[in-house]
Amino acid sequence: MNVLVINCGSSSLKYQVINSDTEQVLAKGLCERIGIDGRLVYTPAGGEKEISNLDMPTHKQAIQYVIDALTNEKTGVIKSLDEIGAVGHRLVHGGEKFACSTLITEDVIKAVEECSDLAPLHNPANLIGVRACQELMPNTPMAGVFDTAFHQTMPLEAYMYGIPYEYYEKYKIRKYGFHGTSHSFVSKRTAELLGKPIENLKIIVCHLGNGSSVCAVNGGKSVDTSMGLSPLEGLIMGTRSGDIDPSVMEFICKKENMDINGIMDVLNKKSGVQGLSGVSSDFRDLQAGAADGNKRCEMAVDVFCYRVLKYIGAYVAAMNGVDAIAFTAGLGENDEIVRRKIVSRLGYLGITLDEEANENGRGKEIAISTPDSKVPVWIVPTNEELAIARETVALLK
Ligand code: ADP
Repeated sequence: MNVLVINCGSSSLKYQVINSDTEQVLAKGLCERIGIDGRLVYTPAGGEKEISNLDMPTHKQAIQYVIDALTNEKTGVIKSLDEIGAVGHRLVHGGEKFACSTLITEDVIKAVEECSDLAPLHNPANLIGVRACQELMPNTPMAGVFDTAFHQTMPLEAYMYGIPYEYYEKYKIRKYGFHGTSHSFVSKRTAELLGKPIENLKIIVCHLGNGSSVCAVNGGKSVDTSMGLSPLEGLIMGTRSGDIDPSVMEFICKKENMDINGIMDVLNKKSGVQGLSGVSSDFRDLQAGAADGNKRCEMAVDVFCYRVLKYIGAYVAAMNGVDAIAFTAGLGENDEIVRRKIVSRLGYLGITLDEEANENGRGKEIAISTPDSKVPVWIVPTNEELAIARETVALLK
């Protein structure tokens, strides 16, 4: 079956068509600047990337262009929409309502809407994508795969914040965690690569990208993760601050005459390695800057790596041990400097970095610890779209 995987944001939409039998990607791309002007990027497997500027006032129009591209006589990959057996939607926040993926019904849409308070930027945008697909493909089954679902197995002690309990009762304020699809996919794959049942393993997954999080996976279940109520908690990220003393917010607001919206904008969009370096949120720019002697670029990378190191230590403690550590996502898969700065400080776990594997391992499934290390460390590329396609097909069986 071919599955159309959709990741819909407020003004952009990423898509892939995956054949679930062969797990091959037939085509992929994105729509950008929806509601502003509009740009479609379309890449069929084995073909050239096409970029077209198109008028995209709505998400429905954007998805119509995607369908037109997929069914185009010359460069399309399917003859008609009948060849799409299902649509898998990435949904960000399922609150406490969704501990697994689900087929999308009107009740599910209502329940996701009810979680929108928890993810005001993401959930409404995700649902716009769902509605647009429903209008264009009314007879095609659709699944929702939540970023938060995998973490619903966290124990109470991990997800409660030390604030008045009534805020949890009234508003469901607690840690939820994100990147669940990736943490689930990568932990499963790590177990396969080790040739051991995941039920017997304690795995720490470091998903390091523009958004970053660490997850403690014990016996295949998430038991703690670094992101919280929102993706702002935890690691230092491209532009997000991660953990800070909440008093910093009051201090900056008073000194800079800012309100809550202003400081949230600073913490989400102007902080992280971007704010620290003053140069870029992209680690390629930071590593180039550091190599040229820019001390703030070097510091930003160091502060980022130190925070990851601390979370790994915390999760070893939380699980009373660790059997494997996996690095994934843009940085985890590609940035050997970041991996070296973290893994070379894990000697207390009996881990030695295999320098050569680390330098040559870019984007591969490969062990980057030496064979005599007590805990294997691997690069395990993530594939959230494939995970969504698999979940979608599993729900239809
Ligand atoms: P997102 O959270 O947006 O999905 P990604 O997982 O794509 O982010 O990660 C983006 C980060 O990965 C950027 O900081 C980028 O510099 C880094 N990255 C991507 N490719 C490479 C590469 N080939 N070498 C080094 N860093 C890379």
